[in-house]
Amino acid sequence: MAGIVVQPRARIFHGHEWVFAYEVKKAFGNPQPGEVIALKDFKDRRIGSAIYNPQSQIVARRFSRRKQDLDGDFFLRRLGLAAETRERLGIPAEARRLVWSESDGLPGVIIDQFGPHLVLQTLTLAMDQRKGLLKEALVELFQPESIVERNDSTIREAEGLERLTGMLHGETPPPFHCEIAGIHYTLDLADGQKTGFYLDQVENHLKAAGHARGRRVLDAFCNQGGFGLQAKKAGASSVFAIDSSESAVAAGRANSMANLLEIDFEVANVFDRLRQFEEDQFDYIILDPPTFSRSRKALKDALRGYKEIHLRALRILKPGGLLATFSCSHHVSRSDFLQNIREASVDAKRSLRLLETFGQRLDHPVLPTLPESEYLKGFLLEVCPSW
Ligand code: SAH
Repeated sequence: MAGIVVQPRARIFHGHEWVFAYEVKKAFGNPQPGEVIALKDFKDRRIGSAIYNPQSQIVARRFSRRKQDLDGDFFLRRLGLAAETRERLGIPAEARRLVWSESDGLPGVIIDQFGPHLVLQTLTLAMDQRKGLLKEALVELFQPESIVERNDSTIREAEGLERLTGMLHGETPPPFHCEIAGIHYTLDLADGQKTGFYLDQVENHLKAAGHARGRRVLDAFCNQGGFGLQAKKAGASSVFAIDSSESAVAAGRANSMANLLEIDFEVANVFDRLRQFEEDQFDYIILDPPTFSRSRKALKDALRGYKEIHLRALRILKPGGLLATFSCSHHVSRSDFLQNIREASVDAKRSLRLLETFGQRLDHPVLPTLPESEYLKGFLLEVCPSW
């Protein structure tokens, strides 16, 4: 088997699963893009099997510590284990992330499940080349009605892959009803943003709603209204929800009617709209923006974006008000994000108390040795009464 020898002190010797281009000492046996390769240390000891793509900065991603091929049996085993994990965690098949990439031993594979409908992304060359095997294993294990391919992520470009969407199995599902954490949604997997629903936030919708009773809530970057709907259900006195996407707001309005939960939706740019509210207009603001930084280079811009919305939110919150704020940017760490909030509070001349921390739901497991597997973080803060 072809492979690479990894430089001493590379991150893979500290538990990480990736080998970066600059960590390769030498290649042997002429490995080909997309191939399964052997990883060796500088003493010629095998340290596992990886998928290879010399076009990417991340040239190898280990998926096994043993000698292992990517065949049908492998996919059946790993997918079966992923499903078992979710069963054990009690996350219902009606709406769950079934596979979260490296955290499920399938680097670059993301699968969301909505009952009989699966949504697949293959973000690495090797997994993209094996879509057929993945599909066969999924059909055998889960007998889905449909498998939608949502390979429109820009992340694919780093692997030299084009962006595309389509059907891998069955017919394009029409919009269908889905109950998620006690709220009725209509999901449209063909047109919906991302993969239909922000499953990573389901738990946080409930957690955040636990503080909403009697408060005037602003759900900014609301998408279909997940936070606002749960907040209203939990007794918020009013909910105002904003998103720049017309289709998201249309879905949000439909959800609000279907659940008999009154919410005032508006299509607007949050950055502009936050400036127009009056002081003390809200006692609870939820900020859940899209990722501002796809790359490390864009980190500064991302932090500037967060600072701006934090500052504006803190200015319009009344004393005793709450701010729930989230970042799904890979390159913004939990401590960067808290530092950003800290700086905004200093500029806004407000003291904050930290009430809760948020992360991604358990069906998006985090590997402590692979910080990239964690992307969603959030904090719930209370604006201290003026003292
Ligand atoms: N809170 C949602 C998920 C939000 S995802 C949930 O829990 O389900 C981020 C959302 O921000 C997307 O719906 C996107 O349409 C919206 N968005 C992106 N840029 C925006 C902007 N400048 N102003 C308002 N909404 C924006």
